[in-house]
Amino acid sequence: MAMDLLVTAGSILVAGTVSAVDVHAPIGPGARGLAALPTTEVTLALGDGDVLQFLLPGDNGQAHHIVGVLPLEPGQPWQAELVQGSRGWTPRGLGAGLLPLFEPDRYLLNAVQYRPGQLPLTFVLEEPGSADLGLEATEAVLLDSMAAWTDVGCATFAFEYGGRVPEAGVFDNYVAWEDDDWTFDPAIAGLTSTRFGDFEDEEFIAVGADVVFNGVHFEWVDGPGNVYATPATVGARSIVTHEFGHVTGMGHEMMVLPATMFGGYFGGDWQGTLAGDDRRGLCANYPSGEPDCEVDEDCADVDGSERICIAIDGVNVCEERRDRQGDFCSLFDINCADTCVITDTTTGGEGYCTFECGSDLGCGDGWLCDSVELKVPLHEATVCVPDPDWEEPTPGGDDDDSADDDQGEGCGGCTNGSSAALLLFMPAGFRRYRKREQGR
Ligand SMILES: [Zn+2]
Repeated sequence: MAMDLLVTAGSILVAGTVSAVDVHAPIGPGARGLAALPTTEVTLALGDGDVLQFLLPGDNGQAHHIVGVLPLEPGQPWQAELVQGSRGWTPRGLGAGLLPLFEPDRYLLNAVQYRPGQLPLTFVLEEPGSADLGLEATEAVLLDSMAAWTDVGCATFAFEYGGRVPEAGVFDNYVAWEDDDWTFDPAIAGLTSTRFGDFEDEEFIAVGADVVFNGVHFEWVDGPGNVYATPATVGARSIVTHEFGHVTGMGHEMMVLPATMFGGYFGGDWQGTLAGDDRRGLCANYPSGEPDCEVDEDCADVDGSERICIAIDGVNVCEERRDRQGDFCSLFDINCADTCVITDTTTGGEGYCTFECGSDLGCGDGWLCDSVELKVPLHEATVCVPDPDWEEPTPGGDDDDSADDDQGEGCGGCTNGSSAALLLFMPAGFRRYRKREQGR
């Protein structure tokens, strides 16, 4: 495992093609936590005949109860940041270290689907809520987050708030903040545990869920967070709405940056409102047969944000307006339709929105198609970048186009960009939360 393996503090970064996937039974009766789950052994071919094996927590999507960790299939290229677990290498943060090196499907689902008779799905809030937010503000965020997933016109899914309780009962679906003790990965800010059982004449389907939030390693704010701050702050609406997405059956979105279900949280609070992609995913899981909207005006009262009615895969949904190519973005402030190029790679505080491209032609005047050092999403792809030699054509005059054909050496030797980017991201320890538990 030579060149494509990088050792960082406590973890390794590898890239390769999945050559085998084997599911193993849980360790044994009485096991608790992750050991109570089946595991999946993944063999990654690293090139030059080298292979590396690592374990995914869960059964790789082959049965019902794994929702947090992305399924891996033979033939797919992946990058993985691995840490040494009790039984061998395993992806960091229950899968947070997994990055597909191919374009995954949009609005992925996690195989959880409630039946009509189970809806609305009622949740209670365990007092005292978030110590940082206080009970009133915690409850307000919770209500808004549940309403966001309930008010999607093309979906039948609905949450209902069951009120505050001093201590959740065994059969309650509850939301709680752990402010004294967080027993999971410190990089996980929220964790959704789905319970499975029988309902009517169906066996082993989702029957409820509990959602816990990490008040130990994160400071919770009702507004934009910043995971680089000390202490790291998280926008409560982004995290809570994301976890409730997992409850409904949403998996991680890997491509659409501003989506609530995007598999990463950097800061800000833009993930606190549902993107068209999120809405389309819910509608795929719980189709009402109706569109979310017919015209833009139908979206006016969605959540107060300015929206447009667009079709995604044949279903109209209320989409948020996105910033355009060249508009400002940063790690903590992203509203790009496609990609944010981070130009200040030290602080992450400066960048611009752009799009992936295959050639200069699609980029427009003054832009070239090239690779960059750091962008989000991290997928290896060329994007439209400003042409440093571009001059606005002077009206009437012809420019002395001195054969400036130096769009450089192309991209032959620059494929290392996203690896470097990932290293920059990972040690900050924020990538998110997740699991069968599907933390964020
Ligand atoms: Zn998540």
